[in-house]
Amino acid sequence: MQIITEPCQMQAIAEKLRLNRQLIGVVMTMGALHEGHLSLVKLARQSSGTVILTIFVNPSQFGANEDLHQYPRPFEQDVALAKAAGVDYLFAPEARNIYPENYQTTLECGALGKRLEGERRPGHFNGVATIVTKLFHITKPHRAIFGEKDAQQLAIIRQIVKDLDLDITVVAAPIVREESGLAVSSRNIYLSSQERSAATILYQGICHAEKSIASKKRDLLAIAAEIEQMIASTPGCRPDYVTFVDEERFELTERAEEGKEYRLLLAAYCGAVRLIDNGKIRAS
Ligand code: AMP
Repeated sequence: MQIITEPCQMQAIAEKLRLNRQLIGVVMTMGALHEGHLSLVKLARQSSGTVILTIFVNPSQFGANEDLHQYPRPFEQDVALAKAAGVDYLFAPEARNIYPENYQTTLECGALGKRLEGERRPGHFNGVATIVTKLFHITKPHRAIFGEKDAQQLAIIRQIVKDLDLDITVVAAPIVREESGLAVSSRNIYLSSQERSAATILYQGICHAEKSIASKKRDLLAIAAEIEQMIASTPGCRPDYVTFVDEERFELTERAEEGKEYRLLLAAYCGAVRLIDNGKIRAS
């Protein structure tokens, strides 16, 4: 595995790979690699000749009061995990090479980037859209694998690819969970052991929604309110939002229709840690 830190060097390698007819798969991360990230690498490995993993803690997607400076950066461990997972190139640039002095251009997301996570974290998705697009231009992938864990981010990336006519196939990877149901996340290390077990309420909420919809309940607002109540009554937890959106347009939805797919999106604080989770549910 080769470690690259210069954008122009990565770009030159990607160009050469393309000229040699290599199918490039990219996985973009902020590092602190875990089973979730590695499942994305595995998917990339299965469908691409060359796998590029990017590690970049992108300053422009963090708000002023967020955890940019505390974000875990266990680089040596990440290198070992990436190598073992079969990554060919690890691209880990410095922020000053991605946003050099006098950097000026930012991608602006539309309505989809302003709801839910976008409303709570103003500017977050513009930062995500900009870095993902820059990394597309640097790594020149045919396929890009993103996790369903960040469902709204995935929807935004699909929108970017469509709106900007990018010739890239976006592949969605299912959420990897711990045995308890807690979605694996780099931020889980901030949780105390008590908070970690309380945090399983998010997954229990998803299971509650699945059961309710399977038993023909159709009032999604009522189900979301029940889940908010479940979270609120868990010691140490506080719901931020619990909402159903339709899978196609990612718009808020109040009632389920038979045969359609919905995504339940949850955000909650467990202690001081803000967690997000989601589940896809079909109304059959
Ligand atoms: P991050 O490093 O948190 O920015 O995540 C990088 C990529 O890994 C994103 O596409 C995430 O959606 C994905 N990811 C993070 N956690 C998981 C998980 N538990 N299961 C599947 N994908 C994940």
